[in-house]
Amino acid sequence: MQKVKKYIFVVGGVMSSVGKGVAAASLAKILQSKGYSIASIKCDMYVNVDAGTIRPAEHGEVFVGEDGVEADQDLGNYERFTNQTCTRDNYITTGQVYQEVIRRERNLEYDGEDVEVVPDIPNEIIRRIEVCQRKNKAEVTVVEIGGTVGEYQVLLFLEAARMMKVKNPADVFFVLVSYLPTPTILGEQKSKPTQYAIRTLNSAGIMPDFILCRADRAVKENIKNTISTVCSLPHERIISAPDVYSIYDVPINFEKENLGQVMLQTMGLKARTQKLEDWKKLASKIKKINKKVTIGIVGKYFNFKSCRDTYISVIEAINHACWFNNVKPEILWLDSEEYEKNDKKLKELKNVDGIIVPGGFGQRGTEGMLLAARYARENKIPYFGLCLGMQIMTIEFSRNVLKLKKANSTELDLNTTNPVIATMEEQKKNIAEKNYGGTMRLGSYKANLEIDSLSYKAYGEKIISERHRHRYEFNNYYQQRLEAAGLKVTGFNRERGLVEIVEVKNHPWMVGVQFHPEFKSRPLNPHPLFKDFVKASLKRKNKIKK
Ligand code: GLN
Repeated sequence: MQKVKKYIFVVGGVMSSVGKGVAAASLAKILQSKGYSIASIKCDMYVNVDAGTIRPAEHGEVFVGEDGVEADQDLGNYERFTNQTCTRDNYITTGQVYQEVIRRERNLEYDGEDVEVVPDIPNEIIRRIEVCQRKNKAEVTVVEIGGTVGEYQVLLFLEAARMMKVKNPADVFFVLVSYLPTPTILGEQKSKPTQYAIRTLNSAGIMPDFILCRADRAVKENIKNTISTVCSLPHERIISAPDVYSIYDVPINFEKENLGQVMLQTMGLKARTQKLEDWKKLASKIKKINKKVTIGIVGKYFNFKSCRDTYISVIEAINHACWFNNVKPEILWLDSEEYEKNDKKLKELKNVDGIIVPGGFGQRGTEGMLLAARYARENKIPYFGLCLGMQIMTIEFSRNVLKLKKANSTELDLNTTNPVIATMEEQKKNIAEKNYGGTMRLGSYKANLEIDSLSYKAYGEKIISERHRHRYEFNNYYQQRLEAAGLKVTGFNRERGLVEIVEVKNHPWMVGVQFHPEFKSRPLNPHPLFKDFVKASLKRKNKIKK
């Protein structure tokens, strides 16, 4: 029997988007560094069964796990911070919970009892949390509850947490991540919104054990005192969490506040090890880097909000690879639709050191991406195509080198005469039946690499495994012709006969991958393809300077 089995619920107060996911990931990281096995779970309030059907421009990237789960972007933070792999066990939505309860009811699994919102829904939430704990053999399970306290839809998740606390008072703990604004007109930090958030949490029957005070600045002692009095907590459990240089500073900052030690004490545990050195080294290295490399991301999921959430794993993978190469990235957001309106704008690509065309769905903006891919090929600018970016690279090459003027993907033009990207048989049925949820080619698949290739040079391995999320594929019917013209297939899935990687010959670095390498990049272990893409971009930068 496993002896230590603790649960920490991380809930938000005052407002969303203040970094609750990074806080939860950092907490797990610290506990892991002190020698405890951990698991991280994200609970999302929406009725969607998974994040696969949600628009990324508004709700952030869809993160894909090894098993193909399409999840909230916070699972990406958990993986990057703790280096642990997430699956569908790490992700709970209201939709999943109701779907399972109703399935069981239809199967007569409630023995003739009526099924009620309380306690049957919280019980299913608890069951899922415990499954994840067991499968990961976690001593501490960190459960992040999306949204903020006071929202109606959060209640059933809070109720589940409360019920767990009632059953095991010594094993369940609560961290409130709150926000402390400093109104310009006052110039003084205010704690009142946080006090209200604490009261709201209290009214759900929950007393927080820790308050993480997110703010643009450090929290002063007098504010800590006020909060400590309001929630009857010792001063040491009110943690200052100011904005930081990079998200990788967050665990280090928490440690400066002694959070790990105090948290272990609160849970009745002792530190077994102290292992944050590598992390500290990286965080301080990041701050010292001055040299820049400019990476242009040619995409279309740009709106009034920042693009950071939409492309977070791509951005982080670029960061990791740049830091490895001792440079810092300057990322330019290049809207592909602008190139469609005015192709003179393409010239701006001359000033970037490398171009990435990331994943995407639907026709909008793809003609502009094709123009950018052509520009990269003809001007020998390093190009990295991620999923859709690989398909774009193939279409561009077919149109402009093979002279198949109408070449396209059947996703973008159903009636194209040259479908160089097309669907597999099994997907045709899904599309015809509008069976879209969770039916793409999802999760990890292996690929064999050609030895004489940029990809093999990067990975240094013949067989790789990467995560997928797409419905359309390279059409093997065109492979011979494309290869003869200089677009080489360098990665291939033998079991299913699918093309995984293409590379342009006689170009410094033009690689397209049908998968999403960004999901597997880690701060201390950058992804090999991103590393080499950045290296090639740097080479171009240095060459141009001379
Ligand atoms: N829309 C393309 C497909 O479904 C690419 C998907 C992606 O970029 N993730 O195949």
